Amino acid sequence: MGAFKASVIPDKSDKLVDHCDDCGSPIYSGQEVWKIGGNLYCNTDCFKTAINAVQPMRI
Ligand SMILES: [Zn+2]
Repeated sequence: MGAFKASVIPDKSDKLVDHCDDCGSPIYSGQEVWKIGGNLYCNTDCFKTAINAVQPMRI
């Protein structure tokens, strides 16, 4: 008889949590997101859009 090998089921942490408040992409638990108050943004671009960030400029 061989050694007993327990089958480990990977802990799936990709549960849908919310959607990006800018582009609407699904946001899963464990994903790195930008957060402003109660709003979540899936990436830097969406975050920049949310805060009305523009290209760096000299004033
Ligand atoms: Zn987004």
